[in-house]
Amino acid sequence: AKGEGRNTYRFFDAQMNEAIAERRELEGDLREAFERGDLELHYQPLVDVGSGTIVAVEALMRWQHPERGWISPAVFIPIAETCGLIVPMGRWLLQTACAQAAMWPGISLSVNLSPAQFRDRDLVPFVAATLAEAKFPAERLEIEITEGLLLDASLKPLETLLALKALGVKIAMDDFGTGYSSLGYLQSFPFDKIKIDRSFVSAIETNPSAAAIVRSVVGLGQSLGMTTTAEGVETAGQMAFLQGERCDQVQGYLLAKPQDPLRLTALLGTWRDG
Ligand code: C2E
Ligand code: CA
Ligand code: CA
Ligand code: CA
Repeated sequence: AKGEGRNTYRFFDAQMNEAIAERRELEGDLREAFERGDLELHYQPLVDVGSGTIVAVEALMRWQHPERGWISPAVFIPIAETCGLIVPMGRWLLQTACAQAAMWPGISLSVNLSPAQFRDRDLVPFVAATLAEAKFPAERLEIEITEGLLLDASLKPLETLLALKALGVKIAMDDFGTGYSSLGYLQSFPFDKIKIDRSFVSAIETNPSAAAIVRSVVGLGQSLGMTTTAEGVETAGQMAFLQGERCDQVQGYLLAKPQDPLRLTALLGTWRDG
């Protein structure tokens, strides 16, 4: 049994080495891709439930690897976070997306900021300078953060979020309900919006608890004067439920997938309200 244990250990050891080598390789490839300008931004509409109009877009990073094809940001963003690339990548995203969104009249722009970007002391001045340069109104920029940020006091989350708010920027709590959510966060931090995670939305029709949670979060948002957005809406049944609950905004494949700026411009031109 002892020998077996050791073999198992060696097996995991080898697997781990392989995983580390793979990650190093991806990290190098990511750095190269970023420097060559191979990263792209796609934009996914957020639709106002009441009017049926597209009111905002969320910028999402895309990477097509020369050999491996499309790599999910769920894979490469964590790599960028640990190797220091997330700050320059995030700056590039903000500049590109603000310049792009400035050409879409009346449309707000959502960007995701990871906790590592809050380690950048120049984050707030950089956001201010980027808005000015792109001539993009601060009120139309929304920064999406996750609960992880709020847990790390060393990042001074409250101070930074308040400084961003002072610029006029909106703050959204992303993936609500998936982390160590504390309702107290909604009270202590200056959120304008709650984004209800796809894991709850996708279970609305099959799991009564998920439906109850979505209903409660929409109610909570209403009581606190925050906008509620349901993520990952894929079916007409989910949409009907969210309409009935008076959720403010919906985002998901049922409405539109993330797409490149050219396609999104075309979509904005043909979108039918209601
Ligand atoms: P997220 O912020 O929760 O973004 C929403 C994700 O859900 C996107 O995945 C989007 O494509 C996907 N999605 C939207 N509607 C549907 C739907 O109806 N069904 C399904 N199955 N999925 C849907 P994506 O683009 O793969 O991004 C994954 C995550 O990577 C994002 O989750 C976000 O956490 C992170 N991410 C992406 N771009 C950036 C970025 O520029 N910066 C940072 N910090 N994180 C990013
Ligand atoms: Ca997001
Ligand atoms: Ca989300
Ligand atoms: Ca999510």
